[in-house]
Amino acid sequence: MILQHVLRHILGPLMRADRPVFFAWCADGHFRGCVASPAAWIADYPEHRDLHNIKNGVCYWCECPKAEMDQLPGRPYPMRDHGKYRVLSVANTATANARLASFDVHQCSNVFWDLDCVASDLPKPDLLHTMQLGMLKHLLGRLSVFLKQHKHFEAFNNIWLSVHANLEMAQPRRTYEEVSSWQGKEIKIMSRFLVAVLHCALRDPSASLQDVFKQAIECSRALVEFYFYSEYDSHDEQTLGLMSTALQGFHNSKDVFRQFRASKRVTEEGKARRKELTTERDDEELTTERDDELKSMKSKTAAHRECQRKSWN
Ligand SMILES: [Zn+2]
Repeated sequence: MILQHVLRHILGPLMRADRPVFFAWCADGHFRGCVASPAAWIADYPEHRDLHNIKNGVCYWCECPKAEMDQLPGRPYPMRDHGKYRVLSVANTATANARLASFDVHQCSNVFWDLDCVASDLPKPDLLHTMQLGMLKHLLGRLSVFLKQHKHFEAFNNIWLSVHANLEMAQPRRTYEEVSSWQGKEIKIMSRFLVAVLHCALRDPSASLQDVFKQAIECSRALVEFYFYSEYDSHDEQTLGLMSTALQGFHNSKDVFRQFRASKRVTEEGKARRKELTTERDDEELTTERDDELKSMKSKTAAHRECQRKSWN
């Protein structure tokens, strides 16, 4: 509510009937009378979710039901109609609120509904929340459970840590579980070698697992490909076709990970293991640090070094 009050205060001048009209010399050489109106709003998904009064995890462009968000849409869903939401919100009856809820919209006033902008066109998402910290991080979580189940996680980690530095890409220093908080930059680097590492870790499967491993590699490859195409600055029919094929490939093979959706227990185990690994590494670093300190005291007496040791206990 505070957010909406602040926005209403800032955008108030754009809601006035007598708001200023200005004339602009356009690229085609004509002068046009212009009226200021928001056309884009730079924000990440969580902010757009709040700005649009929608529930978490739903699309801010279309009315795709939450339960169908993980499916490849056969046909486009209707675009969000914020004019309709405004009417329902103002009505504030049980039926109107139920209808709003069916569109995953909260009953609450929204300043964008009072402006003459197309509210559903305001979001201009970047890849950070949608792909890097969205789909790719999700894939890593599923892969780790899959690899543990098939006892290939250690091999995967060893190969992951042996990836060489290349150009501006540094050598990975931590395994998947050791990274407590994945950032966009780390996902970006990881996406360059993930499929190759997975391919090597799943080499020589038994006959019964050949298809499963192949499907896991196909699924990961398709999603990484989709991500790479989505990084292009511009698109044409061909690149859009390639994106579409990659997305189709991902949906065709994603069932291989369905049973490996990380449960609460697995997530807790992962956290505990991460803590264990971090403590182990910190202890190692501390020991090395202390060894160095003792070495630097070589010129001092044994009693002095012993005194230093005691101060650490
Ligand atoms: Zn959508």
